[in-house]
Amino acid sequence: MDEKIKNVIERMKADNIKFIRLQFVDLHGIPKNVSIPCELENMVDLLNDGILFDGSSIPGFVEIDSSDLVLKPDISTYSALSWRPEESASCRFICDIYTPDGEPFAGDPRGILKKALAKIKKEGYTYNIGPEPEFFIVDTDDEGNPIPHDDAGYFDVEPTDKGTDFRREITTNLQELGFEVEASHHEVGPGQNEIAFKFDDALKTADAVITFKQAIKAIVANMAYFDGFDYKVTFMPKPFFGESGSGMHCHQSLFKDGKNIFYDENAENKLSQEALWFIGGLLKHSAALTAITNPIVNSYKRLVPGYEAPVYISYGIQNRSTLIRVPAARGKATRIEYRSPDPTCNPYLAFTAMLEAGMDGIKNKIDPGESFEINIYELSEEEREEKGIELLPSSLWEAYHTFENSEILKEALGEHIFNAFLDAKYKEWDEYRVQVFNYEHKKYLNL
Ligand code: GLU
Ligand code: MG
Ligand code: MG
Repeated sequence: MDEKIKNVIERMKADNIKFIRLQFVDLHGIPKNVSIPCELENMVDLLNDGILFDGSSIPGFVEIDSSDLVLKPDISTYSALSWRPEESASCRFICDIYTPDGEPFAGDPRGILKKALAKIKKEGYTYNIGPEPEFFIVDTDDEGNPIPHDDAGYFDVEPTDKGTDFRREITTNLQELGFEVEASHHEVGPGQNEIAFKFDDALKTADAVITFKQAIKAIVANMAYFDGFDYKVTFMPKPFFGESGSGMHCHQSLFKDGKNIFYDENAENKLSQEALWFIGGLLKHSAALTAITNPIVNSYKRLVPGYEAPVYISYGIQNRSTLIRVPAARGKATRIEYRSPDPTCNPYLAFTAMLEAGMDGIKNKIDPGESFEINIYELSEEEREEKGIELLPSSLWEAYHTFENSEILKEALGEHIFNAFLDAKYKEWDEYRVQVFNYEHKKYLNL
């Protein structure tokens, strides 16, 4: 028996596992799973060969006439699910997806990221990401409309901050799930919270983002059930007009031979030439990237001036009004923070797309231009034009069109995902654009 499988079966016995969930994500990064009662005699075959499933029922996967796909567990992703009962416990494996003839399935977002990482590994690089997903805890009124769970703001304490117990419960659960939680706090918006966890290589981080969102939602739903209240978690980018939105800033760095190549002791700001080119690549492709990093209609209501969310394609050292910020840390911790992504993005696709954009910068020595150390939100349109600062797309539709013409992202994501994504986003926009909202009644009904 394979050593890895032998070890994981030992851990499963120790954790009293009775149910195995095989998990993956669809095109949009929504987790899907199937639960299999654990019969230890059949375990080796299950863990080796995986199982067949109907790919035609998963958004963005395959047509009904060629629907079979194979789910193969990645043994290294084993985790007992902390929020499920301890007796007759459940575990999950994150899976890779194959066609029945054993080829990696081109529509598997995790497979696409693995391919991109394998490509840069050949040149000696590893790509690290530290994400900062923000979220709101909301109550609902009688009509199901969300209301922020508290009125607290940035770094507030209890009793104004009503998120303390949630963050405590979530943090202990995340630790049980193997996360290194770095810090948690109340964010700027009412009911808004952030829990930061340690950076890792992009594949582990993408897996972790999925687990993080799933765990938080499940834990808070359990708490609401036992408390008899109707509160819940939302990762929607802009749940409330006039308040901060939720981003998922991505701190990123490239390592080569164990060394952070974004750091150069002798350079200006101690930022290496590679770091500047990587920034140049991200800036160049940022408009097209936005379709992937900010994938829903609501994402663009967050990307407006005044709420620490990016609007202008620019970078700055320590500047939170720019799209890219370079945090003060240097040495091994040198990194750039790409501030556009929100937590509704599919992390596998977002990390693949950002990596390809940054690497294009390195390959083609793309100069990022000047860095801005001013509050860019306060510049007038003329001043911005003078400085050549362009805007991120202001709607999903605008992002869609830029993305559609991006050869580099088409190449990075592969035809299958590129086309499936365009198809899904066209439909999403088309559905949205015909809706009539309360705002329009208020503004136009008396015309
Ligand atoms: N909530 C802000 C955003 O939408 C970010 C606040 C922060 O810098 O943490 O990106
Ligand atoms: Mg934050
Ligand atoms: Mg940040």
